Amino acid sequence: MKTETTDVLIAGGGPVGLTAALCLQAHGIHSMVIEAKPRGVTHSYALALHPASLDLLESVGVLDDVLDGTLAVSRVVVQADGRRLASLPVAAQGARHPFLAVTGQDRLESALVRALEARGVHVRWNHRLARFQQHAEGLAAEIDELEERVIGYATARFDWMVRRTHSVDARYLIGADGHGSLVRRQLDIDFPEVAPAEHFAVFEFQVRGSLPDEAVLVLHPEGLAVLWPLPGGRARWSFAVHPRAEGGIGRDKDHEPVQIFGPGAFPALEEQLFERLLAERAPWFTAGVEHVYWRMLVRFERRLADAFGRGRVWLAGDAAHLTGPAGIQSMNVGLREARDLAEALSIDRQRGGTRALEAYQAHALDEWRRLLGLAGSVAVGPGAPKEIAGSVARVLSALPGSGRALAEMAGGLGLTLGG
Ligand SMILES: Cc1cc2nc3c(=O)[nH]c(=O)nc-3n(C[C@H](O)[C@H](O)[C@H](O)COP(=O)(O)OP(=O)(O)OC[C@H]3O[C@@H](n4cnc5c(N)ncnc54)[C@H](O)[C@@H]3O)c2cc1C
Repeated sequence: MKTETTDVLIAGGGPVGLTAALCLQAHGIHSMVIEAKPRGVTHSYALALHPASLDLLESVGVLDDVLDGTLAVSRVVVQADGRRLASLPVAAQGARHPFLAVTGQDRLESALVRALEARGVHVRWNHRLARFQQHAEGLAAEIDELEERVIGYATARFDWMVRRTHSVDARYLIGADGHGSLVRRQLDIDFPEVAPAEHFAVFEFQVRGSLPDEAVLVLHPEGLAVLWPLPGGRARWSFAVHPRAEGGIGRDKDHEPVQIFGPGAFPALEEQLFERLLAERAPWFTAGVEHVYWRMLVRFERRLADAFGRGRVWLAGDAAHLTGPAGIQSMNVGLREARDLAEALSIDRQRGGTRALEAYQAHALDEWRRLLGLAGSVAVGPGAPKEIAGSVARVLSALPGSGRALAEMAGGLGLTLGG
């Protein structure tokens, strides 16, 4: 078996792994990106880039490509009982890009892959990290190259089989391999659930008429609902639901698109449920729904890894944290982790040791403890609407921002984030 070498092996070609490769390249560091899936199978899951992500993408020279065809959303409206409680700017004061760029995760990933290819970094699709072993100078990894084969007799079925196994020697490994991370599991890092999972019924549809370029966050006693306008006259409604309590979920299993995060199985959604949820939580939504493109029930867990890595092996993105979808925090904070990890790695690679990598971990853990409501304080001011005061944690996790932008949005609702 021939052994290849690279400075940094990146397991996972999702948005975080691809961004890590671009940032490493900007530091002059060679990386090899391996992705277990074939090229181009992602969907438009996370749908908006925070202003801070736009700064990052600009710094690695991909912003123009990413912005092509996106919709700029500069405000988020918070509603309860059909009343506007606030209309908040989504960017911190003085932000270089004072808007959220609404675009599909698949389009972001395609732009990142194009940028990498232009710089001579070619993602190895159908390559899955199988195992690795750390040693004093780095690590030895085994990678399974997968191929689709016809199996079965009479009725052909297709399955992915290991075609061959490659050996790679690397100085560092980045685990950007998503929520089921093999890298995290092999490091034996715990990934405890820190808050109950949430279920969202998500509907993406064509709008008859037009929508203002603003996101809408609806606070309702039954759960949050979030409306995003999308490019091309589309929109997405996401409703927090309790699957077992919803009689409308589950009678028709032929409507297949159900995605599951974590263990458990959930049945498919019916279109009538969409009408019912709209009537219940957003009766003011009068823009007609012309055609529903897809609908799915997604279970979002809230988990945080006990550590972001050790030695020569470090995590970023969903491999280290999971949260709900409303604030698009998982992916956007993950992109910044990719940048910070690349920088820490470049420092420690030059001077030896793991000081910068330890600092990366401390910062990331602190940020996620705050985002998940495990640390930090929130003072509710006298001007905060009562609907906000009654569901502070829920509202904070649904605001589309992090860091200073999140603090300023919270301030607009009468909340002060502290220590
Ligand atoms: C249905 C759905 C809807 C979502 N909606 C939202 C939303 O509205 N807002 C939001 O913020 N987020 C949303 N998310 C989450 C968002 O998609 C993730 O936060 C984001 O993709 C995380 O990026 P990542 O690169 O860390 O991980 P991923 O995108 O999961 O990428 C990890 C990659 O690693 C690959 N991989 C895994 N194991 C290996 C291995 N051993 N070797 C090589 N490759 C491997 C996987 O194939 C995968 O491509 C949604 C997710 C789903 C599934």
